[in-house]
Parts: sequence; C-alpha cells; structure tokens
Amino acid sequence: MTEPDLCAHCAAPITAPRGARGPKPKYCSAACRQAAHRARVGGPAAVSNLMADLSETFQPIAEAAVGMRKGLEEEHGYSPTMAEMIAGQYHAAMVKGMAEFLFAAQIKLLRK
Ligand SMILES: [Zn+2]
Repeated sequence: MTEPDLCAHCAAPITAPRGARGPKPKYCSAACRQAAHRARVGGPAAVSNLMADLSETFQPIAEAAVGMRKGLEEEHGYSPTMAEMIAGQYHAAMVKGMAEFLFAAQIKLLRK
C-alpha cells in the first residue's frame, strides 16, 4: 500500500520529510502532537476532539462552493438557479468525499 501516513490527531497526510533515522512521525505538526497528548489524557474524548476539528476542515469547502457560485453567475453568465445547483452539487460531492476519507481515518485511529 502506498497511501501516505495520516496524522494520528487530525488525519491530515503527513508530508514532513522523514529523516534517515528515528521512528516515522505520527503527527503532522507539533501542535497536533500536543493536542493528541491532551486528548490521551482526556481519554475517550479523542474522537470527539477530532470531530470538533472537522469544522475547520469543512470550512474551506463551503467557501470554495460560495466562490464557485459567484463565479458561475457573475463571470460565466449562469442563472442564479443554475449556479446555485452546480455549486451545491460540487459542495455535496466534496463534503461526501471528505467525510468518507475522515471516517476511514477515524476507524484507523480507533484501531490503534
Ligand atoms: Zn495533524
């Protein structure tokens, strides 16, 4: 399997370069490592914390959809109804994909 390792806290792919020595990184950032420690101390709140972080994950998708609707309407001459529909479909597809990805990541997290 070639999928990238996911941050054990926020489930983002870990992109930090790996040194030749040492264990592979479990978190994408120092902030996540600390948050994960707090979550561990808090026990089963770990998944709740992960879910609380999701609002930040979904925010850019909502913003992109709003931008897309405006662009379709103002720059490409779509009717407001069409622009709303197309941007709405884009938003729904992105949220669905993200939700499936995060669900898989949570399962992975819970099995550790
Ligand atoms: Zn992270």
